[in-house]
Amino acid sequence: AIIERYRQYVNPGLARLMQFGGFGDVEVSAEGCVLTTATGAQYLDFLGGYGVFSVGHRHPKVVEAVHRQLDRLPLSARTFFCEAQALLAERLAQLTPGALQFTFFSNSGTEAVEAALKMARVATGRTQFVSTEGSYHGKSMGSLSVTGREKYRKPFEPLVPGVTFVPYNDVEALAEAVSSQTAAVILEAIQGEGGIIPAKPGYLTAAREICDRHGALLIVDEVQTGLGRTGALFGVDHEGVCPDIMTLAKALGGGVMPIGATIATAPIWERIFGENPLLHTSTFGGNPLACAAGLATLEVIQEEKLVQRAAERGEQLLAGLRAVQQEAGGAIVEVRGRGLMIGVEFAVKDVAELTINGMARRGVIAAYTLNNPKVIRLEPPLIVTADQVDTALRAFREAALEAIS
Ligand code: PMP
Repeated sequence: AIIERYRQYVNPGLARLMQFGGFGDVEVSAEGCVLTTATGAQYLDFLGGYGVFSVGHRHPKVVEAVHRQLDRLPLSARTFFCEAQALLAERLAQLTPGALQFTFFSNSGTEAVEAALKMARVATGRTQFVSTEGSYHGKSMGSLSVTGREKYRKPFEPLVPGVTFVPYNDVEALAEAVSSQTAAVILEAIQGEGGIIPAKPGYLTAAREICDRHGALLIVDEVQTGLGRTGALFGVDHEGVCPDIMTLAKALGGGVMPIGATIATAPIWERIFGENPLLHTSTFGGNPLACAAGLATLEVIQEEKLVQRAAERGEQLLAGLRAVQQEAGGAIVEVRGRGLMIGVEFAVKDVAELTINGMARRGVIAAYTLNNPKVIRLEPPLIVTADQVDTALRAFREAALEAIS
């Protein structure tokens, strides 16, 4: 009956896709890495909400922090100062690299990117952007304008003008595209929806240098890579690169609350909000519930050493997937990634789809990357155990070999 209501009132095409994908069931509860459906089936969550559930589902510490806030003051009266917001902004300034200091809070990755683009324009007085092919930054008019997938942009044109797309990991193309007209270059530290493509060594450093040469800002979109996912606290930490603006969302709410954050340096902030502190605002952005969740999440990441655990479990998962790649002959083209942000590229899209379906039948959730359906992405919670990784690997092996045969 629920699925029928989806067909009638939510999105019939999406309902078909979900059922075809092997997900024709209704989620009812979740804890840690395990999701339970209405039929009583239990699934190991190796998708992790596309990067949302880094501390797992319903981490007790995050749930408790939100409960406590809910009992006192869930949403801000928006006249007085908000304690949770002040503390979370301070913590983000401490944890993020370089001189990143001030945070604008919103409710999603898309909004975090939207704010970053507006900030870059005002801070530089320029209007051009350089982004990368295959990138994903959101689907609002601004964030879609810098998203590197024609299929999603085309129906909404004309979008925000002045965006040039260059291939990801191509330093020369980037150097050629950036000029004294460029407000900012926007990059992911690992392309997520583009097919889990890590930055080549030196790429982010080169991007930093190119931006500096032309007085352009470097925006790094860490909505998916941030907060331990890649085996470093931030994706840019692998190269020690400091962006001028960083975006965060997904994992920051601990899988309990939605939240987005756009963090920038003090000189940039002064140029944006110096004259008008209300130049960009959000009613729900930085609300007490979301910020309480964010604070608890950052504590959990530190206390449970989730950055290190992501690196360790990531090695285990990569090694296991590479062993299956050997068995699969040419059907699996590449296994790549960092920490627990791992992609398996198949030669044929249909085989990737069948593998996801086969994994679902074996009780493991995975999905393909939005801009590259040949790639299955594995992004389990960072709290995943070695045994759970082994269980997922067995399901992947059986499903992939079945799909190939
Ligand atoms: N940026 C990146 C790198 C993302 O992966 C995503 C979501 N997949 C977004 C932005 C958009 O985030 P949201 O869906 O929360 O708006």
